[in-house]
Amino acid sequence: MVVEILAVGTELLLGNIANTNAQYLSRRCAALGFSVYRHTVVGDNEERMTEAILTALGRSDIVILTGGLGPTEDDMTKEVCAKVMGFSLEEDARTRKRISGYFRSIKRKNITGNNWKQAVIPVGAKVLDNDNGTAPGLILEKNGKTAILLPGPPGELIPLFSQKAEPYLRTLQPDTIYSKMVKVCGIGESRAETMILDLIDAQTNPTIATYAKTGEVHLRVTARAADEAEGKRLVKPVVKELKKRFGICVYSTKEDEALEQVVLKLLKKRALTVATAESMTGGLVAGRLVNVAGASEFFREGFVTYTDKAKRKALGVKKSTLEKYGAVSEETAREMAKGGALSAGTDACVAVTGFAGPEDTPEEPKGLTYISCYLRGEVAVEEFHFTGNRGKIREQAVVQALDLLRRRILEQDRHE
Ligand code: ATP
Ligand code: MG
Repeated sequence: MVVEILAVGTELLLGNIANTNAQYLSRRCAALGFSVYRHTVVGDNEERMTEAILTALGRSDIVILTGGLGPTEDDMTKEVCAKVMGFSLEEDARTRKRISGYFRSIKRKNITGNNWKQAVIPVGAKVLDNDNGTAPGLILEKNGKTAILLPGPPGELIPLFSQKAEPYLRTLQPDTIYSKMVKVCGIGESRAETMILDLIDAQTNPTIATYAKTGEVHLRVTARAADEAEGKRLVKPVVKELKKRFGICVYSTKEDEALEQVVLKLLKKRALTVATAESMTGGLVAGRLVNVAGASEFFREGFVTYTDKAKRKALGVKKSTLEKYGAVSEETAREMAKGGALSAGTDACVAVTGFAGPEDTPEEPKGLTYISCYLRGEVAVEEFHFTGNRGKIREQAVVQALDLLRRRILEQDRHE
């Protein structure tokens, strides 16, 4: 079934707010198994809205409208939609009661006359009670077409959609969509795709979609099935094959699990402590580790050593090393990692040193980065050539630093 999203609001057209409702609704509808083919945005204008609704209903089975359900004069989505679809409007006593109850609950006394406009509904529409505001959601069905009207504020739209509209949509789309994420680090998107080209070419159900993230690639395996058990059964062998092909580069198959969570889990399981020694990333690696609740058990100390002097003082990097090889070098990265672990008294330390730009000279090539990891007496170092602007280069370095620590822990396990 084809779904289309029609966001209403001049604010959206002026660029004052981002259309996050469309993103949310699309994501949810795709997860429910609908084909979302179009997003449209239209201002608070009767003529253009009429045209947009007519066009959308002409080509899609379901049109989800958001915004313009408020009490003011420029809020006209319900009125225009009802007119286009041939519904008359009438006050709904139950909705009026709910609205006055809502005002009581938020202790609002000065209710203006136009508030009752929101109790007027298209006769025959299904009403979705809004527990977080006054405007109800509405479902209008006519001639095999459906319009779902939802309020604009995300704090109202999200609960209304997930609690009331989704159960309705599920009755229209009985198939279940089951998907599983495979998160890969340390391989670029194009290389990742090449490694599984045969799988992508052969796919029908499940399908594999790749998403490039900074320093990571996420692969989503999605199956359409009669129920969740069948979906799982279809997805499982594909996930297994992806894990086989990407090996140690797969860091998680959990939807909400971030790289730093995986790293912390590994540290916790082995009771390892860690420190960071950062130059180019200025504390961002430490910041990512601290994102995880309970990080203090394992993360001891973060050194931000931006200058040569700081690298010598806090990490004990040798003056001769800095003079001979420079601050951005394999040798310095090694000494930073080792010195950081020694100084903090930890089992591990990751170090980052590089050129983030914007300058790009033969002496200081932008993107050249050394990431080192000290782990229980062993030091590993890797050289990277990141591309992009200063922010992107630093972000990539953070991801690779976390990933190097992750891989080193797993590699040491293997040798034990
Ligand atoms: P209200 O009763 O607040 O007037 P409404 O249903 O009439 O609600 P709008 O007036 O269109 O909705 O928008 C109200 C607010 O909701 C906007 O100022 C904005 O903060 C948010 N909003 C509206 N549409 C969107 C959208 N598409 N994406 C994200 N936020 C939105
Ligand atoms: Mg409004």
